[in-house]
Formats: sequence, C-alpha cells, structure tokens
Amino acid sequence: TTLHATPPAAAPAGPHAVSGDSALAAEAARRRTFAVISHPDAGKSTLTEALALHAHAIGEAGAVHGKGNRRGVVSDWMDMEKDRGISITSAVLQFAYDGTVVNLLDTPGHADFSEDTYRVLAAVDAAVMLVDAAKGIEPQTFKLFEVCRARGVPVITVVNKWDRPGLDALAIMDELSTRIDLHPMPLTWPVGVAGDFHGVLDCATGDFVQFTRTPGGATEALAKRMSAAEAERLLGSVWTDAVEEYDLLRSSGHDYDHELFLSGAASPVLFGSAVLNFGVRQLLDTLVTLAPAPGARPDQAGTPRPVTAPFSGFVFKIQAGMDRAHRDRLAFVRVCSGQFTRGMVVTHAQTGRPFATKYAQSVFGRDRSTLDEAFPGDVIGLVNANALRVGDTLFAEEKVAFPRIPLFAPEHFAVARAAVTGKQKQFRRGIEQLGEEGVVQVLTSDRRGAQAPVLAAVGPMQFDVAKHRMEHEFGAPIRLETLGYSVARAVPAAVTSIVDSRPGAEALVREDGMHVAVFADKWRLASVEKDLPPGSLTPIFG
Ligand code: GDP
Repeated sequence: TTLHATPPAAAPAGPHAVSGDSALAAEAARRRTFAVISHPDAGKSTLTEALALHAHAIGEAGAVHGKGNRRGVVSDWMDMEKDRGISITSAVLQFAYDGTVVNLLDTPGHADFSEDTYRVLAAVDAAVMLVDAAKGIEPQTFKLFEVCRARGVPVITVVNKWDRPGLDALAIMDELSTRIDLHPMPLTWPVGVAGDFHGVLDCATGDFVQFTRTPGGATEALAKRMSAAEAERLLGSVWTDAVEEYDLLRSSGHDYDHELFLSGAASPVLFGSAVLNFGVRQLLDTLVTLAPAPGARPDQAGTPRPVTAPFSGFVFKIQAGMDRAHRDRLAFVRVCSGQFTRGMVVTHAQTGRPFATKYAQSVFGRDRSTLDEAFPGDVIGLVNANALRVGDTLFAEEKVAFPRIPLFAPEHFAVARAAVTGKQKQFRRGIEQLGEEGVVQVLTSDRRGAQAPVLAAVGPMQFDVAKHRMEHEFGAPIRLETLGYSVARAVPAAVTSIVDSRPGAEALVREDGMHVAVFADKWRLASVEKDLPPGSLTPIFG
C-alpha cells in the first residue's frame, strides 16, 4: 500500500456532483455511521469481520480485521500493537448494504485507550454495544455506555456468544435495566439457552429464524424462516419455552419504541453469535431500518447546521506514523454537512487558513485509497494535516465551528524528560504533537518548566505509546517518572497557589488552558477542598 496516493494526472470522470438540497439530503439519509463498543474479548473484531462479510465488503471473514494469528490490517501498523495483540488506532470500514452506505468506525479494544474510543463516539450517530452472553455488563461496557449516554448516542445492544453456555436471557435483560438503566426492547429472542442455540424468535412477526452452523463460520450462516407452528413441531418445548419467556418480558412493557431508542433511554436488543455469523444480518437490517441517519449538527453556539448546508466536518482523530517510511500525519474528519469533493479548498475554522484536500483518502487499517467524494456521515482521511488538531472544524463557504470534544479526566501522571541531552528541540516537538493528537494529555506548570512536562493519561498504556513514539518517531527518547496522583479536577486560576501549597496536591495547566488540580487520592482531594472557596473543584468529563 502506498502512502501518498498519487492523484490521477487527468482526473477521469471525477466525482458526480450532487446538485440540489434534495439529492444531498438523500445521500445523507442513506448513511449509517456507527461504532461498536464492548469490553475487550466480547467479540468486537469478530463482529466487524462478520458485518463486512455479510455486506460483501470482503471475501472471507478473517481477511479484514483480526488479532493473534489472523491477518491484522488495522492492528499491526505498530510493533507494539503486534506484540500485544491490541488495536490502538482507529479507522473506518465503509460498505454498501441494502441501499445504504454503512460507515463502521473502528475503536481500540483496550480500556487504556478509552479516550480514543470516546473521540470516535463523538463522530458517530449510533453505537452497537456488544455484551458477552456469559459475562453480561462488564466494566468497560459500563464506562463506554456512560459515554454514549452523556453524548446522547442511541445504542443497539447485541448479546454475543450465544453459541456457548452463558447467562439466562432474562437475567441479561435485568442487568441492562438495573445496572445501566437502559430499558431493553428485544427485536429477537433466543430459542434455546446459551450454549444450545437454535435460532431466534422474530419479535415483530412471531416467526422463528433458524440458524444453521456452516463449516468454519467463514461464510454466511444459513438462516431459515418458519412460522411459529412449524417451529413448535420442530423444537417442541425449546420453542414454547422461548415464546413463554418473551411473553413474560413483554407483559412488563418491552415492545419496541423508536422515540425511546433515539432518546437513549431504551435499546433494541438482538441475540447472536458473531463467530458463527448468527444474527449479523439482523444487526445490519436493524442499523438500516432503525439507526438514525446523520442529522443537523449543532455548532459551538448551539445552532444546528443542516446536512444540506455547504461542506463542513470536524477532526475526531489524528494518527501519525502509520507508515514508517513516510512520517505522515493523517486527520480523520467526520463530514457533517454538504458534499466533499477531493481537491476542494476548505477553511480551517480555528486559524481561518485555507486547507487543500488534494490527498483525501478513505482509510481502513493500512489500506488507503483515494477518496473522491464524501457525504454527511462519511469519514475522510486528510494526509499531511499538520495544522489540524482533534476537535478542529473544516468548512466551505458558510463559516461554522463545531464544539470541541471534551477531554477525559486523567488518572495516571508522569513527568517526561529527554533521556538524551541535545535533543530538546525534538523533545518539545514530539511532546507537543502527542498532545495535539490526544495520545496523552500534556500538563505544564511554571514550577516544573518546559523541560519536564507532566503527561497525563486515562490508561497507563498510553505512556508506553508516547515513549515508543518519542524514541522511534521523533528521535527523542524519554524517561518517565511516575507521579503519585490519581485524581484530577478543574480549578480556577485564582486558587491554584493554595493547591500548590498542600502536600499530595499540585496545580497544572492543560494544553487547552484549563487549570487542573491533581491529587494523590480522593481523601487528599477532600482535605484540600475544605480550604478552598466552595465549588472551586469541578469534575472533568469521564
Ligand atoms: P474483541 O477483543 O472484542 O475484539 O474480541 P474478539 O473478536 O477478538 O473475540 C475474542 C474471542 O472471543 C476470540 O477468541 C473469538 O473467537 C471469540 N468469539 C467472538 N465471538 C464469539 C462468538 O460469538 N462465540 C464464541 N464462542 N466465541 C466468540
């Protein structure tokens, strides 16, 4: 794969220009942009493969996205990822399905990179929450779900791994209601307990959809639809038990309600097995029929920008070093309005400067191809986007700036110092860039000085990434000294000296100018808080 896609010498036919608001609105209306969130190992990579397979984006499951001995396109760009079998970076898989264009934004699996997932969630219109049938709601599911709720992202729930022993379906519904206050609205109901899976009851029609295992699971699972009477003849009590269970649930009000789904209060639920490709088609159909299309996005002032307005989009992810031969920097932009055509010159809202889009690309893992046009809901990758930062807006014609993406509250802190003398310039540049990309947050103070910035992270593995990149990409190896803080709060500039005067506490400044007070633990926080004017310390998102 070449890094800088060479634009064709003479553009052939060129992108088809969509003219008129209605054509543009129609393009937006057929987009479905979503991400899969889950606790590690719930089956996110497997489901991603299965979705792509069903949509015929790829020939055989396992070819697109994988870990371990499967060929990994997304997760192998960095040695670290390969070594640990984790995916750190995010990219986008786009495919056509049933007249719609589906954009699946990939998210890192490891909890340490949840801030990266969070930024992706700022760029989607819906999320698929994957729950392991044997484990129910796990810590990372919980945390990511909270982010969806905070952002008002509607969630579709998929109970995965139904092919093997697990919890009772009603117990899982109960977990959704009681543990995360998400009202479950099953669209399908499992026939046969976890581990003895025959298929699902289609809650809308009352039919039985029978799943048949296919060898290897690498091809689409066979799904045969039959009436309730046929199902009963075939399965006897296995069928009637499923119907009874579902009726029991229904009697307490679990029918599908679209408004409740869109508001984030309730979630449609599907059962399946990603590894056997069971229930994957139902998920695609649910995305097409129920998940919201891109809509008007509020700008910084809260004024919605209609999808038919001239081009606009915002950067939700910056990724560098994807190809070690060319140290490029790629900005992922979610299109919010208008038609994007490669080569158009747009304005960078934060600087007012023009930005040329000659090298726009679509990116999935290492595979990049030149992208000629994009519509609301799509994601474009812009090469050599050195001026762009996460949260920045690009627009054409009519000026707009979208709200910045809030930063998570860091829980890990370490002082970074250049390990090799004479590399101060590279050191400063590297740290600055890692901060702009959101690899780590960079906190500074006059006391510590520019030579010793504090790196702050949600998960400690972010430090490993920072260390690796400082050495291999910026040629400035660093030494990290862990600081014994674990809690951060926003604090007004006026009281930072009080914070600094107390043991186990310190005031720092974040790159966006926010003053941040950090504390050894919540008890230390409480003791300092008593000496500050009431309301001085405010939680940081996350
Ligand atoms: P991720 O960490 O969420 O991306 O999870 P993976 O997709 O890598 O899956 C973790 C493990 O669970 C792998 O060994 C998968 O083969 C397995 N797995 C995924 N989906 C299913 C499923 O539906 N049934 C069973 N039995 N195993 C599954």
